[in-house]
Amino acid sequence: MLKPKAYSAKAYSAASATSPLASSTIPRRDPTEHDVQIEILFCGICHSDLHYARDEWHSFMPTVYPCVPGHEIVGRVTKVGTAVMKFKPGDLASVGCLVDSDHTCPHCQAGLEQFCPNQILTYGSPDKHLGGVTYGGYSDSIVVDERFVLRVPSNLNLAGAAPLLCAGITTYSPMRHWGVTKGKKVGVVGLGGLGHMAVKFADAFGAHVVVFTTSPNKKEDALRLGADDVVVSRNADEMKKHTGSFDFILDAVSADHDINAYINLLSRDGNITLVGAPQKPLAVSAFSLLIGRRSLSGSPIGGIPETQEMLDFCGTHNITADVEIVPIQKVNEAYERMLKSDVKYRFSIDMASLKSE
Ligand SMILES: [Zn+2]
Ligand SMILES: [Zn+2]
Repeated sequence: MLKPKAYSAKAYSAASATSPLASSTIPRRDPTEHDVQIEILFCGICHSDLHYARDEWHSFMPTVYPCVPGHEIVGRVTKVGTAVMKFKPGDLASVGCLVDSDHTCPHCQAGLEQFCPNQILTYGSPDKHLGGVTYGGYSDSIVVDERFVLRVPSNLNLAGAAPLLCAGITTYSPMRHWGVTKGKKVGVVGLGGLGHMAVKFADAFGAHVVVFTTSPNKKEDALRLGADDVVVSRNADEMKKHTGSFDFILDAVSADHDINAYINLLSRDGNITLVGAPQKPLAVSAFSLLIGRRSLSGSPIGGIPETQEMLDFCGTHNITADVEIVPIQKVNEAYERMLKSDVKYRFSIDMASLKSE
């Protein structure tokens, strides 16, 4: 295959696991016939960005440097290839964690590209067009196959819409899969970037939403986001009151924690789904699962059709993430603050700030 022509895009990249992100340029391909070129307006900052930039996932996905993170991308279409049907210049568009897949495996056939063994991640995957690896959204533009470009409802605040592409779909997908609807009792463990989205979705689905938190001072915020009740998880009496009562619990905690304390709160056939990834394996009591035929599972992002469904749902219910907007020049500082959970609840980079670099 002939290599497509490339142009030079502005970006913020890390040169090594220990160097801060800094201004640079990267090659992007000129749109081929099925491609959409997007001017990036906002890009959310996800924990994965930091893990990747610092090569913390070395054992299963070693980082190739220079690396450009960012997979919560919202922008405006600037150019489309000759065969593109869904987009035209000027349209709002977004890109999440995936930019390609094999399109032929059973998962892709089912619209579940998040399980495709040949999926191409937005950053750090082999780039079949230009060689090297794919570069993410900390950039002024990106070029993506139209099958992986999503429409953005025009009523949504764009800075707040960016995190929907990872934090949003990661929490929306398991709730849809496990049947969160009106009348169900749903728990959300951990009120961070993922957890706050889970509260908004569960509330919009009509569920009775209970937030579990270690910090009592998050109570007011949890209620504002849509929770019906807040339980301080360190309070054993408070926890006990909810034993055997939850249809579904979404666990968004990435630190070590006692999972059995939550499994015991599930009702018969209740499910708890992990979307956080603690480094240390969790100790699961078989008894907690046996009693009540409860289940424990995990869930990664979502497929392309479901991501579009989620964005449309957000348009209808006017749901976006609560964000703090930062210029790209503050991205390293934002990483440090994210590590301390010092953000309500997601950073969104205003990519106009890249113009001055
Ligand atoms: Zn992410
Ligand atoms: Zn596939």
